[in-house]
Amino acid sequence: MADTFRAAVVTSFDAPLDVKDVELPTPGPFEALVKVKYSGVCHTDLHAAEGDWPVKPSPPFIPGHEGVGEVVAVGDAVTRVSVGDTVGNAWLWSACGECEFCEDGWETLCLQQKNGGYAVDGSFGQYMLVDSRYCPVLPEGVDLAGAAPILCAGVTVYKGLKQTDTKPGDWVLISGIGGLGHIAVQYAVAMGRRVVAVDVDDAKLELAKKHGAEVAINAATATDAVGEIQAATGGGVHGALVTAVNGKAFPQAVSSLRRGGTVSLVGLPPEQFPLDIFSVVLNGWTVRGSIVGTRRDMDEAIGFFARGQINPTYAVEPLDNINDIFSRMHAGKIDGRIVMDMS
Ligand code: NAD
Ligand code: ZN
Ligand code: ZN
Repeated sequence: MADTFRAAVVTSFDAPLDVKDVELPTPGPFEALVKVKYSGVCHTDLHAAEGDWPVKPSPPFIPGHEGVGEVVAVGDAVTRVSVGDTVGNAWLWSACGECEFCEDGWETLCLQQKNGGYAVDGSFGQYMLVDSRYCPVLPEGVDLAGAAPILCAGVTVYKGLKQTDTKPGDWVLISGIGGLGHIAVQYAVAMGRRVVAVDVDDAKLELAKKHGAEVAINAATATDAVGEIQAATGGGVHGALVTAVNGKAFPQAVSSLRRGGTVSLVGLPPEQFPLDIFSVVLNGWTVRGSIVGTRRDMDEAIGFFARGQINPTYAVEPLDNINDIFSRMHAGKIDGRIVMDMS
């Protein structure tokens, strides 16, 4: 093994990523060194590289939290994985395991958690470290390029859908049919929900229909999107999942709810939106945030994929394309996910 590897590094929030050689890290006691085969590119990586959010990462850092690859070395205390296993990284790179949230099955709320590709170097490179106690473990024989988007997009929308408190037969609105949203349509269908898809691009809406959406609405061209959703669903959706990277999508999703409905906010545009107190109170709506998923959610989300119920739409590109991939993501020009090949 060479002592350096190629990675895409954020050196400043205003500059393109620098694809260069960096030093190979040594795994700590509970860590594993992974030779990355593929990494999905999540819009969160773009937010990270641009320093969009109030809590910023510190350059230089390597983004990426949808990496899959093979364990090539392990630290002294590692028992959960072995050399040769196929594992991934995730946004929830590790948590403390001891706080009230961790004890309660809410490790995604742990204040000591570390985030992959943000506080800890991620998967936009030929090698990465994972915490062996938290890393997703992939079953044998799955398509690794297709599995990559499950590790963030998949688990996030699967958990977010659970958090809508809907049941089979209920209508759910998926707003934003990008990397997350096109997979959300598939989990929703697999979970027996009926899907209304909303985006601002007709090609994304076609993708949603291909994956099983019954109703598709273009929010940019519809004269009354909320009215159309209410008419198509007989009074509004029972649940909504907002993955759109645009503040306008959020109040629209809230207004599309049926009485008693719940919206899970998942997309993270750096904006605010007005919440009408009277409507929320009188309609008994629940508005909640949903952040990735626990290790249990991850295993469940991977299970749906491994059984063939989820088929991400993706294109494979080389690591060197990262700045171009980010430009296309900015412009909303990606169908499904881009997965980078690290070989
Ligand atoms: P993406 O760029 O692949 O997709 C965004 C989609 O939103 C595009 O299809 C775009 O056309 C659509 N869109 C834009 N404006 C819209 C509007 N007004 N109405 C409806 N749709 C609109 O991004 P992604 O990788 O799917 O990520 C989506 C968001 O989710 C990002 O902000 C990301 O940071 C966030 N995210 C959150 C979590 C979490 O745990 N909460 C996890 C992963 C990603
Ligand atoms: Zn992500
Ligand atoms: Zn904790």
